Amino acid sequence: DRFTQAFTRQMPASLNLRDRARQTLVAPTHADRYFFPSVFPVFVREASGGRLRDFDGNEYIDLHGGYGPHLLGYAHPVVTAAIREAAGRGLVNGIGNTHEVELAERLVSAFPTADKALLCNSGTEAVLLAIRMCRGYRRRSVVAKFEGHYHGFSDQGMVSSWFRFSGDRARPTPIAGCLGTAPGAVDGTLVLQYGDMPGLARLREHADDLACVVLEPMPTSLVCLDVPFLTELRALCTELGIPLVFDEVVSGFRAAYGGAQIIADVHPDLTCLGKVIGGGLPCGAVVGRTDLIDMAKSSQDPFYDYENKVFAGGTFSGNSLTCAAGVATLRHLDENPHIYTQLEDNTQRLAAMMREATQGRDIACRLSARNTFFSLNFSHREAGLYRERMAGSNFKATIALAYYMRKHKIHLPELHAFLLSAAHTTENLDQIAHAFEESLDDMLAD
Ligand code: PLP
Repeated sequence: DRFTQAFTRQMPASLNLRDRARQTLVAPTHADRYFFPSVFPVFVREASGGRLRDFDGNEYIDLHGGYGPHLLGYAHPVVTAAIREAAGRGLVNGIGNTHEVELAERLVSAFPTADKALLCNSGTEAVLLAIRMCRGYRRRSVVAKFEGHYHGFSDQGMVSSWFRFSGDRARPTPIAGCLGTAPGAVDGTLVLQYGDMPGLARLREHADDLACVVLEPMPTSLVCLDVPFLTELRALCTELGIPLVFDEVVSGFRAAYGGAQIIADVHPDLTCLGKVIGGGLPCGAVVGRTDLIDMAKSSQDPFYDYENKVFAGGTFSGNSLTCAAGVATLRHLDENPHIYTQLEDNTQRLAAMMREATQGRDIACRLSARNTFFSLNFSHREAGLYRERMAGSNFKATIALAYYMRKHKIHLPELHAFLLSAAHTTENLDQIAHAFEESLDDMLAD
């Protein structure tokens, strides 16, 4: 109650906006949209660098990062200037602009196995299109994916993703991500476990039905990069002739310039991108091998080759505003490679301070952190597989921590990995670590 009162005093305008929003919006806050109704929502008045300010005048250090696009921090001057310039030239035209060409060139040159790029409007679309290309290419329909990996909100992208798992540990069975899922999306999915090398034998069993294998090389839910596993998977897909698709929607240009595949030195046939490549505007892309990516044709015309091509459209795909923001972001990252070294140093520095805080207190908490990603797990057990991690986690504690941190003016997403940006200073890291200690003490006292 003490805690609730403190909050209610701190953020009356946000709570009022939340109540107003509930009258007309299906998902009034980010947490409502993705997980559950947020008890202490923040409505953002403005954001810049690594900070947010709400409508009550509270300022927060932000570790939410808009779920990933803001690697450079909010309102980076280089990106804002590019958006202003492009906006003045008339926005979407459905005809053609220079920025889409420049963005495609930058994307293709960042990946060893990318010959061409297809632009779209979200990570969801990117994965959906990559799967469609593979189905057209292979003339087979089953998609192999991994438990706990979210690939956007399409029917198939959500199968056996967040908090959803079923069947045996070694032979998971697919389960719909939500009500309203077409049964074909579930039946047409083979579910595997990230990190389970023997489990990959199931790809061999199902090879004749598979269109592709899709996974996050560095899963956001676990924050790890299993290079031997990825290497084995790559070799098996090559042997079986099954396209390997990396979903680097979050890790792309965040874990490294390019993505986690650059760190692992394991390269897929198609890579799905989003978030960072749009500089904060809605964006997605598929990059990859010419023979696969050329399966897509983006015009529906009388001469359309229905027998040999798949369709990819989108009024806003490749729009000048998004592409200008994306090009400005990627150019800045490319010209300043030290940003990535600094981000990893900062990640490890903050992680060390946070681990020290938990070890000095009677609290079971494990932290996975690398390349700007942080994932906290209130549990005694070291978890290998996604389902073990979900089973052992105290989610109430995770959510409570986000709220306590909010009281101490640090904004964490309630249940998503939290993300550092290049705008966070060393002083910010100390402030975050200090707030973390205080929040743990608050939690232990309550
Ligand atoms: N793939 C992954 C790994 C994601 O984390 C997300 C979104 O969080 C998506 C795909 C979907 O991207 P979007 O929300 O842009 O549709």
